Amino acid sequence: MATLKALQITKPHELKMVTLERPEPGPGEVLIKVMASGICGTDIHILEGEYVGAYPVIPGHEFSGVVEQAGQAVSRIKVGDKVAVEPNIACDNCSYCLNNQQNFCENWQGVGVTLPGGMAEYVIAPEKAVFDIGELEFDEGAFVEPLSCVLHGVQKTCIRLADRVVILGAGPIGILLLQAVNVQGAQSVTVVELDQARAEAAQTVGADQIYRSMDGLPKDAFEVVIDATGVIPVMKRTPEFTRKGGKILLFGVPPKTNIEFDAFTLFLKGLTILTSYTSVRNSLQAIDLLKNKRINVKPLISHRLPLAKFEHGVNLIKNKQENVKKVLITPNG
Ligand SMILES: [Zn+2]
Ligand SMILES: [Zn+2]
Repeated sequence: MATLKALQITKPHELKMVTLERPEPGPGEVLIKVMASGICGTDIHILEGEYVGAYPVIPGHEFSGVVEQAGQAVSRIKVGDKVAVEPNIACDNCSYCLNNQQNFCENWQGVGVTLPGGMAEYVIAPEKAVFDIGELEFDEGAFVEPLSCVLHGVQKTCIRLADRVVILGAGPIGILLLQAVNVQGAQSVTVVELDQARAEAAQTVGADQIYRSMDGLPKDAFEVVIDATGVIPVMKRTPEFTRKGGKILLFGVPPKTNIEFDAFTLFLKGLTILTSYTSVRNSLQAIDLLKNKRINVKPLISHRLPLAKFEHGVNLIKNKQENVKKVLITPNG
């Protein structure tokens, strides 16, 4: 019997390395040998019992690998292809899917959330969610999913040519937002980031100005203000920095709580507040931007760890140790 090693969250706060039977891909499915799998905040939420999750679950939804086996009726993807996966699997047959809003699918399944994910030597995915990454490195392929979410958000913002944009927070998502905003034609991108290593990474990939705190940041100065922190006290201050008629994109995943804005300021400045939830078929765009080097993810990778060190990686992120940025797990060494 062929087997695979996987990291399983058996219930909130409980992790286990397990050996499971290696599944055979069903019709329309492929089996992927996972080469790089990024740890995301969502994995940490699942581990801590703060997210919709069906336990036990193998986490990991930001990964790349090689196709090991293709099931019946698989036609576009071939054995040996280097691929990345779009983990949000839509039914294509509900009121949202039929209206091109697959991110709100009523029958949504998530690889690494409700289905076995990429923190394993092998994973199954439906062909429609699998994308050829060609000559991209596996490490880069692991960013296709978070970059897709970023592209969806940036496109929703409809940044105009020569807009001045500020991004609050330069974690991995902030750094992707910064580059996507530059591709979209911003005049300048300002970044606010307290952490030295993250501020330097932002500089490397094209930030025009870096502020170490919001206190020095000019008020009423930006057509677009993007929050990439999900921290309520930061999000609350976004209207201060927005020019009249400007837009605010609340991109960082916030906690489940209320947020207060001054209603008169929103009115007087004619502000538009936007949010963005996952992505809608943005993987091809993400892969092309990575291939053409318009977006560079290498400065984002701080750690590469084996599967057995997943928990260590989670702790590095939670405690912000060792200048952590993105932690990649390499289940096949
Ligand atoms: Zn993620
Ligand atoms: Zn659906």
